Amino acid sequence: MRPDGTVVIVGAGQGGFQAAVSLRERGHTGPVVLIGDEPGLPYQRPPLSKGFLLREEGTIELRARSFYERRRIELRHARVTAIDRPARQVRFADGNALAYDHLVLATGARNRVPPIPGTGLDGIGQLRTRGDAERLRAGLSAVSRVAVIGAGFIGLEVAAAAVKTGAAVTVVESLDRPMARSVSAVLSAHIAGLHRSYGTELLLGRSVVRLHGSRDGTVEGAELDDGGFVRADLVVVGVSVSPATELAADAGIDVGDGIRVDEFLRTCDPDISAIGDCAEFPGARTGARIRLESVQNAVDQARCLAARLTGAPTPYTALPWFWTEQFSTRLQIAGLGQGHDRTAVLGDPATGSFSVLLFQGDHLLSVESVNAPADHIAARRVLASGTTPGPDEAAVEGFSLRDWADRQRRTDARVEVTG
Ligand code: FAD
Repeated sequence: MRPDGTVVIVGAGQGGFQAAVSLRERGHTGPVVLIGDEPGLPYQRPPLSKGFLLREEGTIELRARSFYERRRIELRHARVTAIDRPARQVRFADGNALAYDHLVLATGARNRVPPIPGTGLDGIGQLRTRGDAERLRAGLSAVSRVAVIGAGFIGLEVAAAAVKTGAAVTVVESLDRPMARSVSAVLSAHIAGLHRSYGTELLLGRSVVRLHGSRDGTVEGAELDDGGFVRADLVVVGVSVSPATELAADAGIDVGDGIRVDEFLRTCDPDISAIGDCAEFPGARTGARIRLESVQNAVDQARCLAARLTGAPTPYTALPWFWTEQFSTRLQIAGLGQGHDRTAVLGDPATGSFSVLLFQGDHLLSVESVNAPADHIAARRVLASGTTPGPDEAAVEGFSLRDWADRQRRTDARVEVTG
């Protein structure tokens, strides 16, 4: 693309923001238009389920308005309703259109509302946007019993925040352990113990079949598949999300579990790219197509895209990493552990600080670190290098991932010098 071409970015979240900033940092001189349908300045979502919910964190905007002005990043508050690919324009609800030389889709994901009768009652909340968080925050300050449907990262973070407000909290999860799709059984057990130690009732392997309300339409509780009933004045639904793909699909762009892109983040239309939560891309390790929902992925994909648009194309191979905070526990995950068949635990989970190494055969896939930031940093270095310890080595008493990473670095440096 020409350096003075117009880049239009749809979605002013984490990925869209970073794409605009990185384009400017890399010397793109043409117009950069960042279009978002949420009110206010672009903001970060992670605090929404953590400090913001408890009023511990006030400012969540990524930057002040002057930052965009200084960089000539045009912010537009509007909803894009269609892409006209032959005309290379995006269209808005009011009939106006905007031409692009390159279009970036950074439309994120939306919460899925499960087909449970009663989700329309008052007192049913969800959490994706700042508006959702403000409503939930107000709700939490006025109720004494909270039920959370779904023990994923966000559901558990909300549960932890609700406990801190003094509410009695019940979490209902249809799988047999919390965060089952993303973490090892060792970690699930630790997290379950953590929440229970704060008095949260964790109902695993149970599903909500109906939400019940009073005559005035306010929720009173959740009926479970085993006939049980959870009384609640506030129910937070946190089951899963769907990528926002409809703009792309309507414009005839390939969509699978997300907008399909290649390793350069190009859709099937070379003038259109997709990044972040909405993009399904070939994973660097196996080539299998994946979609990730994390700040790291949105930010690193935005940087990779900006490099390509400014003449330095490289395939997207960044190591995935993620974090969550629940009570005083900070969990950091490096790599993707799906498909692991062996684990090694470093440290003692009973101390509240430990790491779990997840292997598939001899291959280290992922490291989960609980209140062990040095292990997490070492894990990122080791996993990114491609040379990793095997499960037998890691199982030896006293094994340290940090020492292993340091030794490896010294060996690599020697090879570089002698080679
Ligand atoms: P988003 O940030 O979701 O931005 C997409 C934007 O596009 C939205 O504002 C949307 O309204 C807008 N949009 C969509 N369609 C249109 C349209 N047609 N026209 C105009 N605008 C449109 N990740 C972590 O790594 N760690 C965490 O601790 C963590 N905590 C989280 C807590 C919460 C409550 C949530 C919701 C997410 C959390 N995440 C966390 C995930 C992380 O925030 C997302 O992965 C990240 O925001 C994805 O960035 P994105 O740019 O792809 O999408």
